Amino acid sequence: MPSTDAFQFTSIGIVHSCYQEKFGIPRQPGLVTMATAQLELLPPYNRIDTLDGIEAYSHIWVQFVFHACISEGWKAKVRPPRLGGKSKMGVFATRSTHRPNPIGLSVVKIGKIHQQDKRILIDLHGADLLDGTPILDIKPYLPYSDCLPQATSSFTPTTERSQPKPVVFTVKAQQQCATFSANLEKDLYTLITQIIEQDPRPSYLANQIDREHGISLWDLNIRWQAKDQYFEIIEIEQVK
Ligand code: SAM
Repeated sequence: MPSTDAFQFTSIGIVHSCYQEKFGIPRQPGLVTMATAQLELLPPYNRIDTLDGIEAYSHIWVQFVFHACISEGWKAKVRPPRLGGKSKMGVFATRSTHRPNPIGLSVVKIGKIHQQDKRILIDLHGADLLDGTPILDIKPYLPYSDCLPQATSSFTPTTERSQPKPVVFTVKAQQQCATFSANLEKDLYTLITQIIEQDPRPSYLANQIDREHGISLWDLNIRWQAKDQYFEIIEIEQVK
């Protein structure tokens, strides 16, 4: 029986993302299209010529490290959140973060590429990445080979396609949202709505209402709760 090999890889970049905690980050890219992030190439890879030709592609594969989970180790069987946390699956049959090699893979829409002195930053749209995520590699998404419409998966949870509950901002939260959107020059209202529509609560809390939750976006804490027929954004606070 051949034995395992150990390799050492170096990160080529780091992500600056709106998501400051794992809670609230969508479970896959493209579900919260308003989420903004920037991938910064790190020396010695911060050379613009490494990106020559990337403008020919709308999306890239991002390979990254689940750096916030490494210390938690891996599990042979995991409870995918969308199975209600009740049943287990083999880790290799899931996109769990608790893997033998904590490597994540996301297809992300790329935006502008910025060069500021020696810094090279790539705008990413709709990423499912925590702020500070180390990047191992990026590759162009090749529709002619990567897109497999005939591929099947009996697992894809329908919940992600069912009618989301409406997201309602209190008058106070609306005012705060307008102020912070202007400060950040971002459409915070749509971003928060898209995130909460995904219902980030762990499934064992899915039936609980009137329990307050918080999501950290940049230096903001979004306080919200589930009601019977809708989600309520209670308040948006700036955290020191
Ligand atoms: N699209 C990737 C994949 O399929 O490999 C990631 C899927 S994983 C289910 C998505 C979750 O990873 C997010 O909801 C977030 O909680 C978590 N996550 C994102 N960045 C992370 C990081 N740097 N460290 C640990 N967990 C992270």
